[in-house]
Amino acid sequence: MRRETLITDHCQMPFTSLIIRDDGSVYCCHLNRQILGNFEQKGIEEIWNGKEMLEVRKKIMQHDYSACDEQCPYVHAFKNRQGS
Ligand code: SF4
Repeated sequence: MRRETLITDHCQMPFTSLIIRDDGSVYCCHLNRQILGNFEQKGIEEIWNGKEMLEVRKKIMQHDYSACDEQCPYVHAFKNRQGS
């Protein structure tokens, strides 16, 4: 069996994960400030496929880290590569 590795140049969190805080608010990771919805008002599938999630994915694919905390190692690495 051939094993392939997916190599991307952007963060994978919005494509692979969700976190739910105590108040029901949902984010793609604990360092992203973009609220994707509230678990008590929407189902996970609706949030996963919702417009907020699509916006976060689009931003990350465009290396727009404006909703990401500066402490994120991915943001740090990207800025270091850019020389800023
Ligand atoms: S904060 Fe970091 S891990 Fe989270 S979505 Fe942004 S780049 Fe990815």
